[in-house]
Amino acid sequence: MESAATRLDEVRERIAHACTVAGREVDEVTLVAVSKTHPAEAIEPLLQAGQRVFGENRVQEAQGKWPTLRERWPEVGLHLVGTLQSNKAEDAVALFDCIHSLDRPSLVAALARAMDKTGRRVPCFVQVDIGEEPQKGGCAIGDLAALLAQARDAQIPLVGLMCVPPLGIEPAPFFALLDKLAGDHGLAGRSMGMSGDFETAIMLGATHVRVGTALFGART
Ligand SMILES: *Cc1c(COP(=O)(O)O)cnc(C)c1O
Repeated sequence: MESAATRLDEVRERIAHACTVAGREVDEVTLVAVSKTHPAEAIEPLLQAGQRVFGENRVQEAQGKWPTLRERWPEVGLHLVGTLQSNKAEDAVALFDCIHSLDRPSLVAALARAMDKTGRRVPCFVQVDIGEEPQKGGCAIGDLAALLAQARDAQIPLVGLMCVPPLGIEPAPFFALLDKLAGDHGLAGRSMGMSGDFETAIMLGATHVRVGTALFGART
């Protein structure tokens, strides 16, 4: 198997190439290395190779791995990319530097309470149910304006929109729709694109690509 450093180089080159094709600057796109299910020993080589932004999808798993890693790599940015239960909002606000999965009024309320209590205001993406698949989480497009207004009222820092398009069909129309919705709502961030489609997402305006498999290999 290739080394983590080689895989990181390859992903970075693919990002740079997609940016060139799209006429964008490479520093407009943040690579979020999604390390869910992978142990600290698999994460260390990427840290050593210079990767500084990581994503996890479970609060508890991240609480187990990251405090120790962060003692050695304090400048790491940790992003939550998975569904967040309201009863974990305070733990999430304490641990993460960015949350990509704000998707419902009860979670806006829970995160606002947690941010008020801790004094940590964590930037959030609102996850949109872009393919009308409610089981995946995400706010229905028709409810987006109200949710954004509620989050702004609650002084949650909003940085953009996030989506996970349906599996097995061409993702480009969904990325284009997320880009349009973000523009309509005056949001600069677009968290979209995973291992199989991040170049397409970059062509369509992604600012954050969430890449796991292409960096770490398959999850078991
Ligand atoms: C696991 C996960 C990713 C990374 O997926 P890969 O296909 O392994 O790159 C991205 N986003 C979310 C929300 C995930 O849960």
